[in-house]
Amino acid sequence: MDNHKLLTYCPLCKEQSLHVINMPDGSMLQCLYCGYASSDKFLGAQAEKELLGVEESIRKFAKQDQDRTWIPGILTLPEGMIHMVEDHLGKPLWSYAPMKMIPEEEQKDYPDPNGGFYQQRYDTENQIPFENFYDCLEALNRIKIMKENATTV
Ligand SMILES: [Zn+2]
Repeated sequence: MDNHKLLTYCPLCKEQSLHVINMPDGSMLQCLYCGYASSDKFLGAQAEKELLGVEESIRKFAKQDQDRTWIPGILTLPEGMIHMVEDHLGKPLWSYAPMKMIPEEEQKDYPDPNGGFYQQRYDTENQIPFENFYDCLEALNRIKIMKENATTV
């Protein structure tokens, strides 16, 4: 068990789904129910400055709880990415973008800043929207289990 991690109640959705990771330079918070995230950099007045570094598409959905600011989290996993998008009416949705292989002839269009080329990318053209974060995460887990079963058979 990792002592630096703990599970507690989320002040936004009230579910016991808030993961707190304590690191030497502060705490990271990610709720696995409502999807919102925060860190010590988003405490008090300094949050305003920190928010300037956040993409506008994410920043506009930031929430305030007491002296802490929360922003929609971005989960990047080997199976795919979960992030917040908005529909054509500006309503926030959680979206799952599956990981996909880049055909060899297209890899030249995806240079890796660390050298070489990417072989996989998040398929944001074919992402699947969900009403809430939890359903999105569950869908991703189902895909993960399907893949694991497929490889062990
Ligand atoms: Zn929550």
